[in-house]
Parts: sequence; C-alpha cells; structure tokens
Amino acid sequence: MTYVGRFAPSPSGRLHFGSLVCALGSYLRAKSLGGRILLRIEDTDTSRCHPDNTLEIIDELSRLGFVYDGKVRIQTEHLEEYYEQGLKLYESGYAYYCSCTRDSLKRTPCQCVTRPPEFNRIPCALRLRLNERMPAFFYDVLRGYVACQSPLNAPTLIRKDGLVSYNLACVADDLRQGVNEVVRGADLMEVTTTQQYLSFALGAGYVMSYLHLPLVMADDKHKLSKQNHAVPVLDEGNCQEVLLAALRFLGQSTCGISVHDTPRMILNKALSSFDVRRIPLESGGDPLR
Ligand SMILES: [Zn+2]
Repeated sequence: MTYVGRFAPSPSGRLHFGSLVCALGSYLRAKSLGGRILLRIEDTDTSRCHPDNTLEIIDELSRLGFVYDGKVRIQTEHLEEYYEQGLKLYESGYAYYCSCTRDSLKRTPCQCVTRPPEFNRIPCALRLRLNERMPAFFYDVLRGYVACQSPLNAPTLIRKDGLVSYNLACVADDLRQGVNEVVRGADLMEVTTTQQYLSFALGAGYVMSYLHLPLVMADDKHKLSKQNHAVPVLDEGNCQEVLLAALRFLGQSTCGISVHDTPRMILNKALSSFDVRRIPLESGGDPLR
C-alpha cells in the first residue's frame, strides 16, 4: 500500500515555527517512505481563518521548497460533502441532533439522545453519540500505545449555525483522500481516539497510523500558536535558516547542509539522512525567538 500523508494547516495566520515543524516532519516522513504528501487547508472555522492567509501559506510552503502531490484541498470549497457525511452519521445512529443551549444545559442535562428534538423545526447541533466502542488508546509510531480519556461531552460535529467541526471535516477528508498516516503536533493526541471512532463510524476500511511530533512551546505552559502571537517564521530570504532550525528541532542531522543551499537542496539532503527514530518526544522552545 502506498503511503499517503498530509499537511493540514488552519489559515488563521501565516506559518509560524510550530507549523513549519509539522510541515517538515510530515513531508520528510512521507517522502522517506516513497509515499505521497498532500496539502489540505482546514478553514471551516471562518471566524478564525481568512482566504488571504491561505494564499500566503501556499506561497510560503513553495518558497520553502515543499512540493505537494495532487491539488490543494480547501475545506470551505467542500462544505456540502461534510453535511452529507453528517446526515449519514445521523441515519446510521452514530450521531444525534441536540437543541440544547448553553443556558438550558446549566438548568437540565441534555436528553436529546433519548428524546430527539424536531431537528427540522428548531436549530440543532449534530453531535457524535458516545458509546462503549470508543477506543481507550491508539498506537503512535514514536510513542507506542497512548491511553486517551473519552470526551466528557459528546463532540459537536456540526454546530447549530452550520459550522462544520474540525473533527468531522478532518476525518472525512482523511478517508476521502486515502490518507493512511497522520503526522501532526502532539497537542492533537487528545482527540485521536474520538477521530478513530468517527473514522470507523464513517465506514473506514483500515486503521489510521499516527505519528505525533513534539510541540514548539511559546513558554512553559503554552504551545506556540497564533492565539499567543506566534510570529510568522518567514521574512525576506531566511528560508534556509528556518529549515535548518526546524531540522534540528526534529533531531535530524544537518551535516553537509549549508545556508547557501537552495531550500529544495536542503530538503533533498535532509531526506537522504532522515531518521524517524531521532525525533524527540519532549516539546521544546522556539529556537528563533
Ligand atoms: Zn441536547
């Protein structure tokens, strides 16, 4: 089976060092196994994402030497597909409609599973129905078996206002695109069993492989993210430097690689010495700060 991986950033800003580490890790892993690497823009949360950032990210990745297979998939261009998948999950009993509001939940617990609301007459969210088939752990390429707590509340798949959740869009796309290994930041380990279950509910015929990369931290407690004002990683002409810093962050050898190489040459040299076992498990600080 051909390896199919993906890099799937959310365009809530330009690339920062943390997103670069994921771009590099997913790229080297896929290419070192002779596989395909896809680029997908996860922009269903339109309150945080902007199309200008999408163009910017695509341009930045290309300046950094990354060449992706196939066409870039932009999730907001496929919303109908996610609504269709949501309906299938409802019809097969894996999801239910919930009319509760934040206020009503403070007064009474949700009973929409046993007493379904009239979803075609009142605004409802679609939620994943939790049950005992929810896995308790998943297997990670670097970390082995990782235990995961079941979510306390049924995860929302589609919000009342129609917004498609990250979990639904991500899992539906991984299946549609034939992705068989997900390489991403360790902050997403906590949603992995939910996604595995969702993938099973959507009819996956295989078990996804996972590889969670170490997080780039902004300080002792918080990962680097757009929410805590991560600075864009690229400025004029520093592609080589940031690629070298990201390689070191991933524990890879930079022997024989110089800042005078083109970004493409750096990626090719990194590929020839890439060793997945050298990737550290522990998170680290942003070396560019
Ligand atoms: Zn409810």
